[in-house]
Amino acid sequence: MEKFDVLIIGAGVVGLACAREISNEGLSVVVAEKNSSFGEETSSRNSEIIHAGLYYKPGSLKAKLCIEGRRRLVELCREHGIPFKLTGKIIVSITEAETGQLEALKRNAEECGADTLTMLTGKEVAAMEPAVTASSGLLSPGTGIIDTHSLMAFFLRSAEENGAIVVFDSPVEEITPEDGLYRIALGDRDATRFASRVVVNAAGLNADGVAEMAGIDTDKHGYRLHLAKGEYFRVGGKSPVSRLIYPVPKSGGGHLGIHTVIDLAGSLKLGPNEYYVTEIEYSVNPDNLAPTYDSVRKFIPGLEISGLSPDMSGIRPRLYLKGEEVRDFVICDERDKGLPGFINLIGIESPGLTAAPAIARHVSSLVKPYL
Ligand SMILES: Cc1cc2nc3c(=O)[nH]c(=O)nc-3n(C[C@H](O)[C@H](O)[C@H](O)COP(=O)(O)OP(=O)(O)OC[C@H]3O[C@@H](n4cnc5c(N)ncnc54)[C@H](O)[C@@H]3O)c2cc1C
Repeated sequence: MEKFDVLIIGAGVVGLACAREISNEGLSVVVAEKNSSFGEETSSRNSEIIHAGLYYKPGSLKAKLCIEGRRRLVELCREHGIPFKLTGKIIVSITEAETGQLEALKRNAEECGADTLTMLTGKEVAAMEPAVTASSGLLSPGTGIIDTHSLMAFFLRSAEENGAIVVFDSPVEEITPEDGLYRIALGDRDATRFASRVVVNAAGLNADGVAEMAGIDTDKHGYRLHLAKGEYFRVGGKSPVSRLIYPVPKSGGGHLGIHTVIDLAGSLKLGPNEYYVTEIEYSVNPDNLAPTYDSVRKFIPGLEISGLSPDMSGIRPRLYLKGEEVRDFVICDERDKGLPGFINLIGIESPGLTAAPAIARHVSSLVKPYL
């Protein structure tokens, strides 16, 4: 049985960021990933937006880690040549009544510590984005887009240079605490076993299942994940907008509203919508094309429905159902549950990509006392 200081479960953007950060401290790290490559799940099925941290509850992990993560992400991109662009984003109000909501959003963002935001009149929005019709707007110049695959490849390379080992086709199937170590059985061909002092559960959509493997009652502790699917529809031809354009979010939910998603190649998608599912399945329902188009046409009236086609989907690992209160990320050393050094990361939905470098630093601070 091979022994490591830290075993990380999951090679998505969060697990890989943690592997880099922790191996930078000179600790021995192994990452076990059930798929044959990295980032094949939520980390490659999202909007690839570097969020500025506008929407979250001030003081929450989502707010703090998004804002710190954005700053670190931009630094990493600049230092290491990871493709990104600070496109800017405008949240647009359609009615006068929504303008009050934009002002409230601005105050919330400022309380969270987000970068400077500017209120725009409808005319100013139209001058910046001629295809957009709005009664007012809120400009976030610090929002951008990133090539997530390049970011993950960078984290992986950098962790491996530090000596970390990443094993693919290696689903973690058993976790047994024994003599101050965690013994981990992988369901690979050779039935490999590892032992580690610390375990980081970064298993994304399966993080509640992995917590259960360690003996945690997920229902009792509020760790049960629900699957909230989001679909995207591609817009053919040249994008009519150069920034990310969002509607005012409906109050209460975790959904930011169907918006424009531009990528680094300049093409445009609309999405993601939101509905709960019971299985992980990524087909796109063509019946959702018209409602998606209708949402965006409210602020881009010249958009033609004939140019839209189903594109891809992703699934949010949610700790709450529709109508329930939005929950924060769970990032917790489970010492109080009798599992010291077992660090759970549960409900890492958006802004998990943006927050990844800051989540990694936070996790590293939880790991240090054990090693
Ligand atoms: C529709 C959508 C849009 C989004 N848009 C944005 C955005 O624009 N900006 C942003 O900041 N965030 C966004 N997010 C959120 C972001 O994508 C996630 O927070 C982030 O990708 C989570 O990364 P992760 O590493 O935690 O999870 P994942 O990428 O899901 O990685 C978890 C890994 O664990 C592995 N695993 C699971 N179980 C086991 C096991 N038993 N053994 C071994 N391996 C296991 C999986 O195979 C997987 O590779 C969006 C999410 C969705 C769904």
